Amino acid sequence: MNNKFVYLFSEGNASMRNLLGGKGANLAEMTSLEIPVPQGFTVTTEACNKYYDDNKIIATEVVNQIKIKLTELEKITGKSFGSIKAPLLVSVRSGARASMPGMMDTILNLGLNDTTVEVMAKLTNNPRFAYDSYRRFIQMFADVVMDVKKIKFENLMDEMKEAKGVKFDTELDADDLKELVKRFKALYLKEKGKEFPSDPKIQLIESITAVFRSWDNPRANIYRRMNDIPGNWGTAVSVQEMVFGNKGETSGTGVAFSRNPSTGEKKIYAEYLMNAQGEDVVAGIRTPQPISKLERDMPKIYEEFMGIVNKLENHYRDMQDMEFTIEDGKLYFLQTRNGKRTAQAALKIAVDLVEEKMLTKEEAILKVDPKQLDSLLHPNFDAAGLKTTPIIGNGLPASPGAACGKVCFTAEEAKEREANGEKIVLVRLETSPEDIEGMIAAEGILTVRGGMTSHAAVVARGMGTCCIAGCGELKVNETGKTFELNGKTYTQNDYISLDGSTGNIYGGQINTVEPEISGHFETFMGWADKIRSLKVRTNADTPKDAAQAVKFGAEGIGLCRTEHMFFAEERIAAVREMIVAKTEEQRRKALDKILPMQREDFVGIYEAMEFRPVTIRFLDPPLHEFLPTETDDIIALAKEMGITFEELKSTIESLHEFNPMMGHRGCRLAVSYPEIAEMQTRAIIEAAIYVKRKKGFDIVPELMIPLVGEIKELKYVKDVVVKIADEIIAKEGVDMKYLVGTMIEIPRAAITADEIAKEAEFFSFGTNDLTQMTFGFSRDDAGTFLKNYYEKKIYEFDPFAKLDQTGVGKLVKMAVELGRATRPDIKLGICGEHGGDPSSVEFCHNIGLNYVSCSPFRVPLARLAAAQAEINNPRK
Ligand code: PEP
Ligand code: MG
Repeated sequence: MNNKFVYLFSEGNASMRNLLGGKGANLAEMTSLEIPVPQGFTVTTEACNKYYDDNKIIATEVVNQIKIKLTELEKITGKSFGSIKAPLLVSVRSGARASMPGMMDTILNLGLNDTTVEVMAKLTNNPRFAYDSYRRFIQMFADVVMDVKKIKFENLMDEMKEAKGVKFDTELDADDLKELVKRFKALYLKEKGKEFPSDPKIQLIESITAVFRSWDNPRANIYRRMNDIPGNWGTAVSVQEMVFGNKGETSGTGVAFSRNPSTGEKKIYAEYLMNAQGEDVVAGIRTPQPISKLERDMPKIYEEFMGIVNKLENHYRDMQDMEFTIEDGKLYFLQTRNGKRTAQAALKIAVDLVEEKMLTKEEAILKVDPKQLDSLLHPNFDAAGLKTTPIIGNGLPASPGAACGKVCFTAEEAKEREANGEKIVLVRLETSPEDIEGMIAAEGILTVRGGMTSHAAVVARGMGTCCIAGCGELKVNETGKTFELNGKTYTQNDYISLDGSTGNIYGGQINTVEPEISGHFETFMGWADKIRSLKVRTNADTPKDAAQAVKFGAEGIGLCRTEHMFFAEERIAAVREMIVAKTEEQRRKALDKILPMQREDFVGIYEAMEFRPVTIRFLDPPLHEFLPTETDDIIALAKEMGITFEELKSTIESLHEFNPMMGHRGCRLAVSYPEIAEMQTRAIIEAAIYVKRKKGFDIVPELMIPLVGEIKELKYVKDVVVKIADEIIAKEGVDMKYLVGTMIEIPRAAITADEIAKEAEFFSFGTNDLTQMTFGFSRDDAGTFLKNYYEKKIYEFDPFAKLDQTGVGKLVKMAVELGRATRPDIKLGICGEHGGDPSSVEFCHNIGLNYVSCSPFRVPLARLAAAQAEINNPRK
């Protein structure tokens, strides 16, 4: 570890992102580009990690270095902490390696106390401004550093407004605010039992420590889990000289995107507020002005502003998201970063930047987050439904897509109702980072306040969730759980629908339809396909899903779960009959019913996949998912089988398993009852011959035997398969090859993969079961206790969603090496859920798998992740 923990902006650059965080590195880079940046210093991510290593105590060494850099900053600015001539005021902001908007804490106006506030009042000739800044600082410091709830201060503010008979904060004058400061400080004393700290150095160290602490707050942890950001990255803290957008009518503050973050259009997208501080714009408390107004009102500033915007975009070769402030007619840029954007915008910008020769195709491919593609593939409203449902209001189209659900007013309730299976739309006055879980749970988000760059808009866009912001005419009654719009009252039992692309709010339920994919998508994905080495297949069990996956670019089926073909009510009876059969004769009778259904489905699947490979897995029904439990079902099945209710019930009881996930499933069924494997082989081969004859596709069926742990059990089932398959092929007189392979989903299979490969012509890693059995976590139950593991930092991610590369991945890698040693041309793939997770796809590329297989909607994501993996670690 470096023992330099603090860097002036002039000491860093953009390549020091890991150490200085995104914000700190960019502030340093902007400084070297000679952009007007208020100066400051950054405390490193290593200092944050040290804080955690030292049991949440900021080291003296770090404190001393901060003090040294502070002195240097005082020299640079000509101002100093607590000065009665030129007091230095600073902002303290978090900045991790990856941007985590709004997830951590920020403190502004630090350095104010009873003395400096008066100096500021005199210097600016604006006591109102000075006292307004002071009261904001006390409130922020109390909230962030000392954990005194904001609402307590807001209540004092409301009381004051009521007493004064005014509606807006801006209507309070300097004396009112001075009085408010007194009350805020009294509240602080009451809550904390000590005076508000007047020494700016104490304020600073406490605030930096609070930002370190905020790295570990619940919303930051959730955000990191959703965005694959490791906890050990830590956050840096940037301390920057304050400039003021709230000094009067020649001051202002705003947020700008160098291109439209919603559509990707190459056009500045910015909004600002005069006489305001940054939090007013971002928190959406007032609705901001479009930048075109600045062009009219302050043309010189506008020109300078546009020059910097273009310089930054050209420098970073990406769309920038910037914060700026005008102080007494002078422009400053407070930060820049690569802007968050919708999936549509991400693709348009990537393609445009290549066409503008700013990026190579490889660089453009690396710019798009694969997970974002998800939102492109989600449904839109059904046109007929749109016509017949009334528009009840309109807001800013903050994040595109369509959402429909029942109204809900708090994040907590959203979470609860979603967990109970309801689809909900979250309606808020404005959202704040605390609402993150509710926003995740919601189908869509609607806010009364805020612009396109408000918290709700930025976060929803990042998540790909539909959002309408700034619907000012909406009147929310949070306690009464109603809202009023267009003269009508809506309750939590009413449905509304949101169109995040137009901003229209509909008073009813509208069905959704599949999305159309734009030309940028095709172009971009075409580049990805040319680059990648890893093939992408899909997990599909029906001809419809298979066809959908082909549309999304699937190159084959990696897993067809045959038991899933029997979920339909009219089919499940046949499977149940097979499961509960007591004799081979009874079982064969049930299998005879199943055979034609299977064959027909396989025909449909082969036809949908045309010439592409198809892997069909033999039955693997965990019994608890398939045995009848309802009396009516048991009566019906008994009747069908010609046995008594009691007889069937006692058979079902005898089949009860304490641990069905480790029970009589997978190839164990075929070992007990080879006639099941016989029937499935017949259906697979006969369907392939039929389609080959009818359509001329040269099908090579891949028959996959699941849950193998021992070479002899694989051999036993394989012999059954080969015998039947060869018989049919000979009898039909066709030339057809087929492969018999296995899933590797039991640790013993991975460990003995060299043995297994003697019989298996391919391996498909079933990492759902492999994770279950490596961790010993039940797939069905782990969710209930994993959350405790996240809280206690034992695990950061759900190992069922993101492959545990350390443990499960080690087994996969070992099996790949052992398998290839025995059979160099063995085909290797993955079909567990991890096949659609970007970091797991990268792992699969790195260990040399031939393909990943995932659900149809995740195919584009996997294609992109595979291309990124190839660029980062070329195989070609
Ligand atoms: C697996 O275990 O990873 C797998 C794909 O099989 P299933 O999820 O059907 O058990
Ligand atoms: Mg499995």
